Amino acid sequence: MQTVSSWGRLRQVPHEVARPAFLDEARAVLQAGGAPALCYGKGRSYGDVCLNENGRLIVTDLLDRIISFDRERGVLRAEAGLTFERLLRVVVPHGWFLAVTPGTKFVTLGGAVANDVHGKNHEAVGTFGAHVLSLGLARSFGEVLTLSPTQNAELFAATVGGLGLTGAILWVELQLVPIRSAMMEIETLATADLDAFFRRAQESRDWPYTVAWVDCLAKGAATGRGFFARGRHAETGELTVHGNPRLSVPFDAPGALLNAHTMALFNGAILYRPWALGAKTMHYDPFFYPLDSIAHWNRLYGKRGFFQHQSVVPMAHAPDTIRKLLELTAEFREGSFLMVLKLFGDKPSPGLMSFPMAGATLALDFPNKGESTRRLLGRMAELVMTAGGRLYPAKDATMSGDAFRAGYPAWRQLEAQRDPAIMSDFWRRVTAPAAAGAA
Ligand SMILES: Cc1cc2nc3c(=O)[nH]c(=O)nc-3n(C[C@H](O)[C@H](O)[C@H](O)COP(=O)(O)OP(=O)(O)OC[C@H]3O[C@@H](n4cnc5c(N)ncnc54)[C@H](O)[C@@H]3O)c2cc1C
Repeated sequence: MQTVSSWGRLRQVPHEVARPAFLDEARAVLQAGGAPALCYGKGRSYGDVCLNENGRLIVTDLLDRIISFDRERGVLRAEAGLTFERLLRVVVPHGWFLAVTPGTKFVTLGGAVANDVHGKNHEAVGTFGAHVLSLGLARSFGEVLTLSPTQNAELFAATVGGLGLTGAILWVELQLVPIRSAMMEIETLATADLDAFFRRAQESRDWPYTVAWVDCLAKGAATGRGFFARGRHAETGELTVHGNPRLSVPFDAPGALLNAHTMALFNGAILYRPWALGAKTMHYDPFFYPLDSIAHWNRLYGKRGFFQHQSVVPMAHAPDTIRKLLELTAEFREGSFLMVLKLFGDKPSPGLMSFPMAGATLALDFPNKGESTRRLLGRMAELVMTAGGRLYPAKDATMSGDAFRAGYPAWRQLEAQRDPAIMSDFWRRVTAPAAAGAA
């Protein structure tokens, strides 16, 4: 048994780990039988969607070959363990970019499909799954299936945002988007409060990428104060790829190192540095991936790890609920240092269980202080549920079964499509009471 954790590092979880180097080997591992299995990409999910205690974990990092790349049409097919980091190194010099990318490039194609990840351009282009042309899925029984919106369409919908439960994704074929330059044109604007954020978001609809960073210390009338960044790919400039992380956190920060001053320093030096107010041109790397410049930054939270809350609430309730969430956070004083706010659009996702819905999404990190942090997360979840919203499984470690089932009513359809040989700690946690109730 080998211990493995996810990005939040809340638990060191024993697994029987397999690292297949070839697609047929990955399929054979899945079909070998034994304890329930689960695929694991780069473990950039914060909670337990990528964990499977005492079960088998199929780590995909050696399955990272590009199978084909049509440089005229921007269509790339690669093994599911390929990271966005490596993919960009190959496609950017040819004038192509990912249609959708999350806030870190250290994720795999398989992980991006399984969580149907979103980026700063959700309003413009929808989720990652909307740009997947087809994928290859191994099940614990039968042949490898090709899935697409028109071929095995039901299983495709269950697999996009399907939390890795429908089978092992072996390869993914993607439509990329053309770029003329690796540079981005950015404008960063101050926002005095939450209303200012919503106004900025409304007036920035012709910018494909938008995001706001919220000052967690602001209270009262200033709640929601921060800055709003909007960007687009520049028309001129070279097609240069990103470099390697500049710094690394070599070991766990002792608890004492983790305080308001050190985290404010981290935020000031690393996270907020690219967002100086005004218009500027910058490389895609600090724009999309500011946190990637420090390897292992999650160790800054120390041995006890940290939680993330990410929720979305429908637009009708968004201003009120986001305000309440921020006020609650201030009241609990759990010390969130990272708050990101943005709007989702109404582009439908091809995934049955995809997280985004038209509305506003808020993401916050909290150091794990035990019961008090969990209490806060529970209260936040209640506010989100009351507003008809939902929490993001990729970030979650505490959501109750009730909250999950209310937010994702299609979960039974995914359960029906789940490969019986596959299970995750997340799925056990959020479906167990319902399954017991149904029995
Ligand atoms: C700094 C940071 C910023 C982030 N920003 C965003 C963001 O802006 N938007 C967003 O949507 N997410 C964001 N995330 C979350 C991240 O994009 C997702 O958790 C993503 O799924 C992680 O990919 P991974 O390859 O590490 O997968 P893992 O975390 O290892 O696994 C995620 C899920 O994918 C499944 N899986 C992995 N590979 C396969 C496979 N080959 N076949 C079947 N299932 C598989 C796993 O079983 C698991 O259910 C961020 C995470 C970090 C750390």
